[in-house]
Amino acid sequence: MPWCDPCEKNWTPTSLSADGTCPDCGEPVEGTPGVDHEPREHTTPWHCWVGVAAVSIYLGWRVIQGLLLLF
Ligand SMILES: [Zn+2]
Repeated sequence: MPWCDPCEKNWTPTSLSADGTCPDCGEPVEGTPGVDHEPREHTTPWHCWVGVAAVSIYLGWRVIQGLLLLF
């Protein structure tokens, strides 16, 4: 999906200008087919890890509850 950094907006390939630039700010948009751009290193967003931690804590607690039911 073409992504414009200055506008922080996703564009559909058909909504871009013919030369692959952003219609709003005129900057070259990343991810445009046929337009060279530097590959961006993929990083996991921090809120993803918050969710993982919350699920882990919840499931851990449910396991403890399950074990307590055995006694
Ligand atoms: Zn833009």
